[in-house]
Amino acid sequence: MGAELLIRGGTVVDATGSRRADVAVRDGVVATVDEGLEAPKGASVLDAEGCVVAPGLVDLHAHLRQPGREEAETVDTGARAAALGGFTAVVAMPNTDPPIDSAGVVREVLDLGAAAPCDVRVAGAITKGRRGGELAPMGEMAALGVRLFTDDGAGVQDARLMRRALEYASALGVVLAQHCEDDELAAGGHMHKGEWSSRLGIPGIPAEAESMMVARDVALARLTGATVHFLHLSTAGSVAMVRAAKAAGIGVTAEAAPHHFTLTDEAVASYDPVFKVNPPLRPPADIEAVKAGLADGTIDAIATDHAPHAQEDKEQPFDQAPPGMLGLETALALALTELELPLEQVLALLSWRPARIAGLTGQHGGPVAEGSSANLCVVDPAATWVVEPERLASRSRNTPYAGRKLTGRVRHTILSGEPVVVDGEAQR
Ligand SMILES: [Zn+2]
Repeated sequence: MGAELLIRGGTVVDATGSRRADVAVRDGVVATVDEGLEAPKGASVLDAEGCVVAPGLVDLHAHLRQPGREEAETVDTGARAAALGGFTAVVAMPNTDPPIDSAGVVREVLDLGAAAPCDVRVAGAITKGRRGGELAPMGEMAALGVRLFTDDGAGVQDARLMRRALEYASALGVVLAQHCEDDELAAGGHMHKGEWSSRLGIPGIPAEAESMMVARDVALARLTGATVHFLHLSTAGSVAMVRAAKAAGIGVTAEAAPHHFTLTDEAVASYDPVFKVNPPLRPPADIEAVKAGLADGTIDAIATDHAPHAQEDKEQPFDQAPPGMLGLETALALALTELELPLEQVLALLSWRPARIAGLTGQHGGPVAEGSSANLCVVDPAATWVVEPERLASRSRNTPYAGRKLTGRVRHTILSGEPVVVDGEAQR
């Protein structure tokens, strides 16, 4: 049997380095990586001239809205958006309706993702109903392969409960991911508290609402010896604390979302709810701190926090609109366009490092080598394109980047050896 797929003419980039090579794929795995490979009879050939052939991207943080908010997104439309963005795996957040806080709902979402053009993984809730009162049955969810637990959308407020959750997580070999926000301090706020919130007369959320919980959870990680993953870090204070915690050998990892290194709170001056997000957009000094954290490895991963909302929900006045913006189809290009980092480092932030945090090493994140899973993306790093909301695969349209010209485009995405995106078009 010959190679079923040949990716020809590209530069292979993975955690081991970069080299010019063709990639032959057979039976869902990488069969050969070498120069000048011939396409066997019957094989399909994907052109990768001028492109980078890399392990598929892994998103630690996507809201796929199913079950319960299918008018905003479904597992299938979200997975299609992910594939178009170069992702071969996404972790679906549990703030659905009902929330993913039991084995039954985990199974339901995994089943919905079974035929999707992206490997859909699930994060389970830390507490029942994400209400912060009682631990969810993490053991039964872990038994179904759940490796990340979070109440995302809310932080676990009770330090004693968080301590117990960390001990439980440690025993199960899973990771708790915290949405760092002190409810009391953030209450009533709709944007970052600072110069722009004063000017606009919109109640603000102080940066400390985030950094206080980061500080507490660094302390709890030290106390319990467990690992905490910090979701969507957005302030200079948080980044500094994670940097210090890592230097002290405490088990923490962190992610940042593209909007927290590409947009500032000044955007809210339009009063357009498309710029409402939680954590909120921050001032330039925080953006610089997030970029520095991505550059020096303090922040391990870029995660999208893809948060689709139906148009009628986002068309409310700023203070009533729900927070969140789309992210899956623009994340890679934003990172390539806005971060002054080598391509290899951007791919590390979007592929192999998040794959490790999600417990997906061996299936996603490479390397692109003989015998490894053929979950790949082919990216043209020089291609430019303009974000057109109506052309996105997501069921929602709430992107803050409409009309923005970006550099770097996903050409092909291959999931388990099957091309799910070819020449920028979804195949299913
Ligand atoms: Zn969150």
